[in-house]
Amino acid sequence: MVKPPVKAEIGVIGGSGLYDPGMFEEVKEFKVYTPYGPPSDNVLVGSYSGRAVAFIPRHGRGHKIPPHKINYRANIWALKSLGVKWVVAVSAVGSLREDYMPGDLVVPDQFIDMTKKRDYSFFDGSLVGHVSMADPFCPTLRKLILDVGASLNIKIHPRGTYVCIEGPRFSTRAESRVWKEVFKADVVGMTLVPEVNLAREAEMHYATIALVTDYDVWAEKPVTAEEVAKVMSENVEKAKKILASLIPKIPKPEEAVGCWCEKSLRDALI
Ligand SMILES: [Zn+2]
Repeated sequence: MVKPPVKAEIGVIGGSGLYDPGMFEEVKEFKVYTPYGPPSDNVLVGSYSGRAVAFIPRHGRGHKIPPHKINYRANIWALKSLGVKWVVAVSAVGSLREDYMPGDLVVPDQFIDMTKKRDYSFFDGSLVGHVSMADPFCPTLRKLILDVGASLNIKIHPRGTYVCIEGPRFSTRAESRVWKEVFKADVVGMTLVPEVNLAREAEMHYATIALVTDYDVWAEKPVTAEEVAKVMSENVEKAKKILASLIPKIPKPEEAVGCWCEKSLRDALI
């Protein structure tokens, strides 16, 4: 593998509408090569508040890659190869409950995987690994995001079950009712899996800021594309504000953290 030209400690994966955080200084753009092919786009590496941050737009700039075609392994590998330990993922979701309103933010604590055909693991060869996903998100990072959201007076729900569908089509009404009433899930999206489990396999701290764009079809509340676009752009601004406050607070390499994310392979390999 080509030696990466720079190091970054924090990675941000941008979702729909977030193609450039626009806050980093001394931004450089790198094409990163991985054993799994190219990541979604060139990686931007810059500094913010004295921290080195790498950014990948999940769908590529200009939103060229649909959820089921994203090279999740390449994205996580690219961040790992730059030295990233902390991954903050941003993604747009539909709401499955009345009180998670369009414009609200959610920091999921669980997920249900309803995807069908993706590359889920780095361990698909001679080395067999089964990582624990009982608690799929980094508790340290989740708490930091929630604290920052509260300090900025941004409406942010502290937990939620994210059901990840294959896409690119949206759910049928029957499916949406299953997610809501049978699964008791809270939000629905298309990109969390396998990003979250690959980050765990790569022993990275990972949490998601889910931006509620609309109610899923269960609500039978028709929305216009204009309304969705307005909520999305407001949500992206909120996510940027959170990132700006969050990045300086992420533990530095010399600081001790209470979570096990960096040791997740300890008991996972067979
Ligand atoms: Zn962690």
